[in-house]
Amino acid sequence: MIIIMNRDVTEQQIETVLAKIRDHGLDANISRGTERTVIGAIGDERKLAPEMFDSLPGVEYSMHIVKQYKIVSRESHPADTVIDIRGIPLGGKQIQIIAGPCSVETQEQMDASAQFVSEAGCRLMRGGAFKPRTSPYAFQGKGVEGLDMFGRAARKYDLPIVTELMDVRMLDTFLERGVDVIQIGTRNMQNFDLLKEVGKIDTPVILKRGMSATVSEWLMSAEYIAAGGNHNIIFCERGIRTFETAYRNVLDVTAIPVLKRETHLPVIVDPSHAGGKAWMVPALSRAAIAAGADGLLVEMHPKPCEAWCDADQALNPQELKNLMGVLRQIALALGRDL
Ligand code: PEP
Ligand code: MN
Repeated sequence: MIIIMNRDVTEQQIETVLAKIRDHGLDANISRGTERTVIGAIGDERKLAPEMFDSLPGVEYSMHIVKQYKIVSRESHPADTVIDIRGIPLGGKQIQIIAGPCSVETQEQMDASAQFVSEAGCRLMRGGAFKPRTSPYAFQGKGVEGLDMFGRAARKYDLPIVTELMDVRMLDTFLERGVDVIQIGTRNMQNFDLLKEVGKIDTPVILKRGMSATVSEWLMSAEYIAAGGNHNIIFCERGIRTFETAYRNVLDVTAIPVLKRETHLPVIVDPSHAGGKAWMVPALSRAAIAAGADGLLVEMHPKPCEAWCDADQALNPQELKNLMGVLRQIALALGRDL
């Protein structure tokens, strides 16, 4: 961390800053220029925060010089991490398309979905049993009963299941039910208590980007999970809030190469919640894979117009099949497979 002092700083003010740095077990280095005095804190600067110094007399501003995330950073682990999900690799050469309905509705709907997901060539399945809805009067999900329907349907086709955990009190139930990948949704990206709890287990976690979260905040949220010991983290870009209202969210394609550079962990994209319309999903999916995403999380419903949730953005089974064919060609052009 460096602390830049005001032009008219006094020796006493410099001493106060030095004492604070030393109190935290770090050394200090003073650089006296013609215009400014700059103090550098030497040691583990994660123990320090700009707020500790910015309010002291004589300090103009202070800033960290190393990144606040460590375990998830590529600096700490240069090679790509490949996460094993019941034998299916995510983050390596093979791209994974995780498909399924927005929400679990009925056993018949889940059975048909699992069949179509499998027939399209996808190796993992999604479906929400607990739904974070904007309105408290909207369908909130089938809950534990939904987890059971999902498990029964997916098991028949040997598809690992991906489902959202909203409440830390449901974690044991998720584990007992054999949830293969826990999804932390957009609205919970900074629910730090939830992040800490999923950090204590080793089930893979898909961490969706908060609606208005910066890449750095997102990486810090992943660090919360990693700091607890769970390094099986998958980032999922799902569109961010901007001034644009012509589509549900803006897919931040730029975040894909930026994250791939910053972290060794896999990065996937949810084109469904980004666009919000089924017709946009193929184009956004192509862009995501071309930009280096390791996979997609796509909504597909056996009968989209009958879906209880997010009907507008669900692909039908044939559209999913067609999309898989196109994405396979893009993957091959990039030296990957699908
Ligand atoms: C979902 O994937 O079902 C979902 C609710 O997505 P998000 O958290 O990205 O809104
Ligand atoms: Mn949805």
